[in-house]
Amino acid sequence: MWDLRIFHSFGCVMAYKDLAKRRECVRRWNQSHPSVVAAAVERYRAKIKNAVISAYGGQCRLCGCTDNLELHHIHHDGAKHRDEVGQSIHIYRWAFKHGFPQDRLELLCRDCHRTQHPMERNDSGQFTRPMKVGSHVKPA
Ligand SMILES: [Zn+2]
Repeated sequence: MWDLRIFHSFGCVMAYKDLAKRRECVRRWNQSHPSVVAAAVERYRAKIKNAVISAYGGQCRLCGCTDNLELHHIHHDGAKHRDEVGQSIHIYRWAFKHGFPQDRLELLCRDCHRTQHPMERNDSGQFTRPMKVGSHVKPA
């Protein structure tokens, strides 16, 4: 994506031969343009997320819903995986990097995803019962 940021770093390449100086210049520029940086990060996240969602079929495997899609760890190793690579976008980036492994992750809508984690705790810390697949009712 050609934006101000790229034009600026191109300018740095022309202006400084020294890599450390170039980096410092980019760092200062980023600091004084937080909204440009935030927009670039947002575009990057959307790009990764859209690629992952379409690679996994673009809909919930259980109900076919296309809203509020999430990646489900088929072998329920999500907590361990998040410890290794990080939360949310890092999981998407991992899937992207590893060629969208279908035996490890699948796409579920938020409600169906809850039905796959029957041992989830509610706000009072009690274990909630598994929901019926496709019922789309939030647990009490
Ligand atoms: Zn669903």
